[in-house]
Amino acid sequence: MYSIKMRASKNDKHISGAETIVKREEIESTVNKFIKRALSHENGTPNFINVKIEEIRETIKYIDPLPIKTIECNNKEKAREVAKNILRNQGIKENIIEEAFKIIDKGNMRGASLLNLEGHRLEPNRDRGVRVKCISTSEELKEKILKNNIGTERTIDAIAIATKVIDLGIIAELCLSDNPTYTTGYVATGDGYYRITNLKNKGESGGRVFFVDINKGDCENIGRLIRDLENKPYIIK
Ligand code: AMP
Repeated sequence: MYSIKMRASKNDKHISGAETIVKREEIESTVNKFIKRALSHENGTPNFINVKIEEIRETIKYIDPLPIKTIECNNKEKAREVAKNILRNQGIKENIIEEAFKIIDKGNMRGASLLNLEGHRLEPNRDRGVRVKCISTSEELKEKILKNNIGTERTIDAIAIATKVIDLGIIAELCLSDNPTYTTGYVATGDGYYRITNLKNKGESGGRVFFVDINKGDCENIGRLIRDLENKPYIIK
């Protein structure tokens, strides 16, 4: 199996990225799909596209997806209250939740912020963040999500990220898309993947925050977590 990663930028500003795991015979078609995606992103045309293809040597972990639920909200205020409640139920304090929304609303990161329960950001580079790589959603799950209207193409990518990070011990994830017109965001916890409509208004930025229970000075555990988020291969069945 091979891991394929794509990132696209314009004058060093992140435009889009994608990652998956495929069989050897699927490499070419997947690279084509990723390049097409990079060239047609709502955020503009990139002048730099990087595609990396690597054989996976580590054992792949196959796990079931978090249960997906959709919560319909008709405005951003209600949607954010729902998201905050889910996060509060995980024991995350109000000021830390507010900080997470600030990071996301500022936008412009390539990966996710690692925010601990005291409000410290643990990612070594705040522009880059931490990118979850070596992930894929199985064909069966993709079909199930789309055919049963459980989610969209974006859910297919995001469920792989969310399921992997929760399995690696992240307490919760908060995510909003970079696409200005895609306003459905989500909160993922060990209980499920909650899609929340209207979590931002059209035209607003996106981002991701992973809430972690690791102390600021605990370099060993921070390093291990980042290595696993980036390199541990997962396929969500
Ligand atoms: P997207 O859902 O692709 O529009 O991404 C929304 C935001 O999530 C981006 O701006 C990044 O900050 C972050 N992000 C996207 N992909 C990843 C990933 N694989 N790992 C961590 N963060 C990501």
